[in-house]
Amino acid sequence: MIEKTLVIIKPDGVQRGLLGEILGRFERAGLKIVGMKLAWPSEELVGQHYADDDDYNRGVGERALANAKEHGTESSEDPLAIGQRVRAANMKYLSTGPVLALVLKGNTAIQTTRNIIGGTNPLSADIGTIRGDLSVDDFSQADIEKRAVRNLMHASSEPAEAEREIALWFTAEEIHDYQTVMDKVLHDPAWGA
Ligand code: GDP
Ligand code: MG
Repeated sequence: MIEKTLVIIKPDGVQRGLLGEILGRFERAGLKIVGMKLAWPSEELVGQHYADDDDYNRGVGERALANAKEHGTESSEDPLAIGQRVRAANMKYLSTGPVLALVLKGNTAIQTTRNIIGGTNPLSADIGTIRGDLSVDDFSQADIEKRAVRNLMHASSEPAEAEREIALWFTAEEIHDYQTVMDKVLHDPAWGA
């Protein structure tokens, strides 16, 4: 299934000079860059990106509580309030400087991109993934310091999210449909048959 997905290299990735390294990993996997721009997003745009959804915020809060418990710090804070705080921290973090927004296209692009990026929490992200290899942070530490976790990247998690996020960050004219020399080998069902 050929899919498109939205990827953001967050401000820490831009600041740390990791754009080439990160783009190279997607290119080598065979994902095609069909949209790309450096953008300094407003808090308003980031607020739409991380939609203010109670169920989603509560889910993030519940995960943060479970994570804190694992680390021996029990808390009775309302999960929704924690999720809202994480969202607010993310809004500041993402709008603190330029980000690189990308649309990647290819077979199973949504899940493949997330596999390449690795788990959300840098501390437990697998070695060999972008977050596992290139970031050092931890949810617990970020939550204690009441800041966003510096995990370098965002990527859409499923088709409806990808569609919504691509439309939020890119106009139709900014997405380019073009052939590459690799298309035949990667995507033509007749190749090698
Ligand atoms: P992703 O799709 O893997 O990026 O993860 P989510 O969609 O669940 O969360 C969105 C973003 O919120 C993550 O990339 C993190 O920056 C942040 N985040 C999620 N959960 C937590 C948490 O428990 N603590 C903190 N500090 N940040 C979190
Ligand atoms: Mg997500």
